[in-house]
Amino acid sequence: MPARILDGKKIASDIRSEVAAEVKIMAAAGARPGLAVVLVGHNPASEIYVRGKVKASEEVGIYSEQHTPPETATTAELLALVEDLNRRAEIDGILVQLPMPPQVDSKRILMAVDPIKDVDGFHPVNVGFLSTQRPGLVPCTPAGVIEILNRSHIPIAGQEAVVVGRSDIVGKPAAMLLLNADATVTICHSKTRDLPEVCRRADILIAAIGRAGMITREFVKPGATVIDVGMNKVTDPAVFQRLFGGRLYKNAKREDAFRTKGSTLVGDVHPEVAEVAGALTPVPGGVGPLTIAMLMFNTVKAAKMHRGSGQWSGASGQKAVVSGQ
Ligand code: NAP
Repeated sequence: MPARILDGKKIASDIRSEVAAEVKIMAAAGARPGLAVVLVGHNPASEIYVRGKVKASEEVGIYSEQHTPPETATTAELLALVEDLNRRAEIDGILVQLPMPPQVDSKRILMAVDPIKDVDGFHPVNVGFLSTQRPGLVPCTPAGVIEILNRSHIPIAGQEAVVVGRSDIVGKPAAMLLLNADATVTICHSKTRDLPEVCRRADILIAAIGRAGMITREFVKPGATVIDVGMNKVTDPAVFQRLFGGRLYKNAKREDAFRTKGSTLVGDVHPEVAEVAGALTPVPGGVGPLTIAMLMFNTVKAAKMHRGSGQWSGASGQKAVVSGQ
């Protein structure tokens, strides 16, 4: 039986509606949450991401503002901007879009963001809160992975979870969230021996690698849940053929789009995994939409912490992510 496809778009849309309802209550009480996005210079991909974040903020009613210092900005200038945003009471969340130009000390800038306004959840204080199961801000993409599992009623406690990838922004926090939710967690990386065998132990397999279609059916235990975090742009027709050339996973719509655009977005999981897995997130339309939804969620959460009302009034299932438990 083919895998159940987990609809990230629908889950993200539900979360955004819940956030919008929460924002409405806060705004009526004179405490509309505010998000500041800092985009240094002109990186076309970053400009698209930032536009998406600002648009999503507007849609859920969050006040947002964009700061666009020039490509030549110095570390000192950016520190001054972040410190100003830290001081402003109406700004609850600060997001500094990466990458920054090479002359800027990015780590220093990220460290300067007040942890209570760190809606990306990258500050070491928030990393520490997550690993010690204290309330804090959790990185958006891994938080989105847990939302997909919870809202799809996939049990985590007691399950074997394998995370492939150990980055600070995806792999490690995803593993920590799964551990906090009582899974037995294995983290894999490029030096892991016999990766397919380790992955085959997983009831829940998280792929956060950055390699198009690397996870093939031999990595997957029949019936496992597979969450594909990867986002890879494929332009090589041979790679496209390897992924979508098989009789069973031919996809005419994607083929047409690839021919017209010359590229397509794929995950780290090969389409053939749908024949083995019990449940699977697609790319696009799986984890991707959750990242912005969880940024909106984090902004409201930061506003509640910042303004001294820590409780989220609605949204069942949200507390698990909020507390990192
Ligand atoms: P990253 O920092 O490059 O980390 C990749 C990880 O994969 C590393 O830990 C690396 O191991 C491991 N790896 C690479 N090749 C491997 C191999 N052959 N076997 C086993 N492990 C291997 O990437 P990232 O930032 O975590 O992102 C991972 C993927 O998620 C990318 O495709 C990215 O675009 C996507 N992403 C998606 C979203 C979203 O919103 N959906 C958000 C963020 C990222 P080592 O540590 O040993 O090098």
